[in-house]
Order: sequence, then structure tokens, then C-alpha cells
Amino acid sequence: MKKYIVIFCSILFFSCSHQQEVDLIVHHAVIYTVDSSFSNAQAFAVKDGKFIAVGSDEEILSKFVAKETLDANGKSIYPGFIDSHCHFYEYGRGLQEVDLVGTQSFDEVIERVKAYSKTNQSDWIIGRGWDQNDWEKKEYPDRYQLDKLFPNTPVFLERIDGHAALANAEALRRAHVKTDTKISGGVIEIDLISKEQGGEEIWLEKELASEVMHLNYPIAMPSGILVDNAVQLVKKAIPNASPKEIEKALLAAEKNCLAVGLTTVDDAGLMRSTIQVIDEMQKAGSLKMRIYAMLSDSTDNLEYYLKKGPYKTDRLNVRSFKFYVDGALGSRGACLMQPYSDMQDEQGFLLNTTAYFDSMAIVMRDKGFQMNSHCIGDSAVRQLRLTYFNTLVSNSTASPAPMSFRWRIEHAQVVDVIDQKFFSGMIPSVQPTHATSDMYWAKDRLGENRVKYAYAYNDLLKACGMLALGTDFPVEHISPFYTFYAAVARKDLKGFPKDGFQMENALSRENTLRGMTIWGAYANFEEKEKGSIEAGKFADFIMLDTDIMKCEIDKVPHAKVLHTFINGEKVYSMQ
Ligand SMILES: [Zn+2]
Repeated sequence: MKKYIVIFCSILFFSCSHQQEVDLIVHHAVIYTVDSSFSNAQAFAVKDGKFIAVGSDEEILSKFVAKETLDANGKSIYPGFIDSHCHFYEYGRGLQEVDLVGTQSFDEVIERVKAYSKTNQSDWIIGRGWDQNDWEKKEYPDRYQLDKLFPNTPVFLERIDGHAALANAEALRRAHVKTDTKISGGVIEIDLISKEQGGEEIWLEKELASEVMHLNYPIAMPSGILVDNAVQLVKKAIPNASPKEIEKALLAAEKNCLAVGLTTVDDAGLMRSTIQVIDEMQKAGSLKMRIYAMLSDSTDNLEYYLKKGPYKTDRLNVRSFKFYVDGALGSRGACLMQPYSDMQDEQGFLLNTTAYFDSMAIVMRDKGFQMNSHCIGDSAVRQLRLTYFNTLVSNSTASPAPMSFRWRIEHAQVVDVIDQKFFSGMIPSVQPTHATSDMYWAKDRLGENRVKYAYAYNDLLKACGMLALGTDFPVEHISPFYTFYAAVARKDLKGFPKDGFQMENALSRENTLRGMTIWGAYANFEEKEKGSIEAGKFADFIMLDTDIMKCEIDKVPHAKVLHTFINGEKVYSMQ
């Protein structure tokens, strides 16, 4: 009898109950859910930060009532984008510095530094991006003007490639760089300075200033220009960022990233001190971005996290280490199996011994960390593929299949055809804008045949069944729309080359969107909580002014984000 009463009451309850109350309803939209059948929907309901139902307008509007309703007016909606490989914090730090890219003269450099110093109160003034080849006077500058303007503030301005820098007297003083400082693998440029050249500020040893000012002959002194290893002398003297500075950098990076639709970023190389600030800010609600932190393989990180183990909250996931296996193709640091086609005695090199990578792989496996290895050249890829295989398959007593470890190859730029065949079990984490940035010279470096195996995203997708897509910003622009365009059209922003670069490796729009959402989530062990618009997942989504799945492909780079939501909360709206 009791049973019947319960059933009767439930029928009564449902038939006369009101609609379920939720926090947010979005309707009248073209929703790309990116679920397993890549289905479309029109509406969804959000409660407590999660999608609770996805369906047609009619279904959602009849079942739910919300405090807030958003009529999308037919606009398209996607899961929030995931950048699977970027340097979020470094990008934010860069935003705090003086941007010297594109300066036309040294006077312009000075003007930008002066303007920066008026609005930024920092202990050091740091800038980057000058290139004397862009100036009319194509010579290295010197420090004397900076010394007069900033006698007590250290100023350090790196050249665009980071291989040279200009430091003022105060920066040299703090770094203890003097005329007789010895350096190997670098140059401290020396000048002969006469007292007419400046005031007291230019003398490195202030206490000597009044004495040498009486001398009538020039004195040898560093000009402020530092090359290669000498750059590091001053760099090392720059104090570590304070928690306040870290916070500022993270917020600056977040602001720009939310505006382009990113809701999760995989930061490829973080230190414990930064991660602690991230965690505190997220818990306090001041940082909204979800962050997948790849730990740098520093002694401090290894000591701390191998003891502590992986760490996860709703917005932060620390369960991977990032290893640099080789350098980059542009500077011929990528490790290749055969010499560079445009420099026969160069082949690149591994940044550490294979024994080191092998031993770290065992530690990662046994301590439950994902291993993410930066491999650009085919030799680096081969080496790490074997390391992964030996650790997870042949020498392992571990019962899970190797795929369950989800170990990643970051960049996977040049992959030999043999390695492509054996790529399954690893996740390639690739950056489509690298293809369109490098395509002008990649053939010179690699030659006609080998370049076919470079930026071979579709081949890798066929081998692995998935790809995680990212940008490597600030190396490339932060925009996921540029990623989408580069992956599908394989053209630069000027539409070059007309028919696309090595189009056999272009990705379909569907797979590109998966690579920026659900596959990115999978690569982070987070596919159950994000990466698609499905009931039970975090309500991370974006609304665009352009339907990037259907518009003319050349319009994609210009698509704009109208709204970005994280956890059901609106965190960005276009003005
Ligand atoms: Zn990177």
C-alpha cells in the first residue's frame, strides 16, 4: 500500500509541479555540443556551475525556469576553448614589461621606457623587443641616456631574440658587472668614456665618480650592451617576482584570454611559487581561469611534488611534468636524425642525456605524473617514443594499458614515418600556428622530402585518434581563432599560400574544434568534467558573432567572442 501512495504522490507532484528552477537558461542558439556524436542543440540549463540539461528550445523552456535567461538570437555557442600548450603566466609577465617590438629608432625606445615608467612603479624596468636592424642607425645603442633618466632604477632591455640586451649603470651595478668582469660564451661591450659624455650617473662605482670626474682622459667602461651569456649576468640579478607581481601578471593574462574564449589553459612549465599564487587566487574567486599546470622539471618542483603527489581542485590540476628534450627548428636546435638541409654540419642536440629522460620516465610513472616532453626534431621524437614505450610497455609491470597514462609529446613537429606508425598510445600536443609561422623556411631547414613529415597533423590524428591543439603563446598570438584557421586553411593571416601549406595535413573543422575542446580535456584527464556541452559538466562555454563551423573559412580569424562563461558565470562580454 505504502508503495502505491509513493507512486501516486510522485505522479501528483510531477503533474502539478512547476518548472525546475535553475540559475541560467540559454536558448535560441546554434549549440555545437561536441559530444560523442557531435550533435547540435538549441538550448541548455545551468545550475550550480554545471549544465544540467541540453536540448531543443521547447524541451528546455518547458522544463526549467531561470533567474537569468539569455536569448542567443541564433548565434553559435561552443564549449569554452582549451589551449593545450601555452605559457599563460609568462605571457602575463610580458604584459607588465615595456614592449619594444617595432621601434623605429633608439629614441623611440627611450620614449616608450619613459612612458612606461610614468604609469608603472616597479623596482626594475624591464623591456624586450628592440632590433637595431629596424633603425636608421643600425648600431647597438649604449646606456648613457638611460643612466641620466634613471640614475637609481635598474633598466634592462632585451633585444628581440634575447641574445643581446642593453643594461643601464644601475642594472650593471646590481649585477656586479664591471669593466674587468670575465665571461665565457658572451661579450660585455666596453666603451671609452670621457667625462663630457655624461654626469655622475654613468660611472659604475659611484664612490669613484667624483675622483674620475677630474680626470682629463677617457675611462674604459661597459657600454651597457651584453651579448649571449653576458645577458644572463644581469638577468640573474633581477629579483624573483613577488606574489603581488605574480598576481598582477596572472590577471593581465586572464583578461586577454577570456576575451578570445579561452576557459582552460595548459601552462607548459610552472614553478611551485606561481602555482601557489594561482591556487590562492582561484580559491578566493579572483582568478576565474581553469589552469592545467605542467610543472617545470626543477629540483624544487621535483622534491616538493614527488613527495606531495598530484593536486587537483575544480580550477587547478597539477599532475604533469614538462621536459625539454630539444630546441627549436628556427635556430637549428631541434634534434634531427639527419643533418639540417641548409647546414650540413648541424643536426641539433638533445638537451639532456637519454639516461636522464629514461630515469625521469620511471619516476613519473611510479609517482602518478603525466610526462609531457617538448620534442621538435624527429630524433627527439624517436628518443622519447622509445623512452615512453620502454617505461610503459616493455619494462613495466604496471597493468594499465600505455594509453591510460596519456603521456604527451609537445609540438611533435617533425615525426618520421616510422614513429608516426607507432604514435598510438601517446598524445600529440600540436600548435597549428607554428606551421603557418614556420612554413616560409621549414623546407630550407628540412629539405623537400623531410618537410612532408613536419606539421603533419592529419597523419598524427590518424595514428592516435586525437590531437590536443594549442598555440604556445606568447611565442604565437593567443587567439584560438588563428589556431582554427591555421589548422583548417593552413594559411597565414594574409591568406598565404593561396591553396594552403601541405594541405594533405589540414584538419577538418570538426576535428579542429574537438582538438580545442574535448581532446584537450582528454589530454588533461578532464574529459568527464569539461570539453563538451553535456549534462553534468562544468558550464564553460562561449558565444561567438560568427559561426566558425559554417562561415567562409577566411572569416574565422576575425570571429569575435560575444560572451565567455566559466562555471555558469559570465566572465567576459564584448563591449
Ligand atoms: Zn612552449
